[in-house]
Amino acid sequence: LFAGETDFLKGVVAMNGLPPDDRLEVCFAGRSNVGKSTLINALTGRKGLARASNTPGRTQEINFFTLAQSHYLVDLPGYGYANAPLAVVEKWQRLLKQYLSGRANLRRAFVLIDARHGIKSVDEEILKLLDTSAVTFQCVLTKADKVKAAERGKILDQVRAKLAKHPAAFPEIIQTSSEKGDGIATLRAVIAGLV
Ligand code: GDP
Repeated sequence: LFAGETDFLKGVVAMNGLPPDDRLEVCFAGRSNVGKSTLINALTGRKGLARASNTPGRTQEINFFTLAQSHYLVDLPGYGYANAPLAVVEKWQRLLKQYLSGRANLRRAFVLIDARHGIKSVDEEILKLLDTSAVTFQCVLTKADKVKAAERGKILDQVRAKLAKHPAAFPEIIQTSSEKGDGIATLRAVIAGLV
């Protein structure tokens, strides 16, 4: 799947802009700066494919990429900007809710969590939304290279305990480092294995 071509398809700002749901889809969500663009670039092997959306007021687009003509990879806008205008946050939440509850071909959401910090309250909001939308989600820990082995166990326990409270959570946690390449093959295999 990841040996095939990956291309940017389009940025979507409203439900009527969504591409037809004619192929399997996975989406990526995460707090801004969690390492989402770096991970998508590592997964697809294309530097610069996904760009960090570091401007709070910027148009919040849902970015669609095609994977080998058979899948969509969807990059959801980063959340949790400290200074994001309320109107922007509300517009984005509305679109996100509509997207998550209405996308028949969406097989799994990958929620990126910084391996140093674990699940924070800002992440809980999207986990709850995934529960109510009945979208199976899987946690991907990012920047694992920044965490010492001794600390890793503690964070994993925290994440596991929090996931246990979410009916839509897939129990297995994937630990990744885009820097070192850890977990990238695992994540690719998980996506390729979805039916
Ligand atoms: P986004 O806002 O979620 O798209 O975050 P970015 O992908 O732009 O990453 C935010 C920052 O974290 C950048 O400075 C990246 O270089 C850094 N980063 C991303 N992934 C990793 C990783 O696996 N290890 C380390 N050490 N840094 C990372």
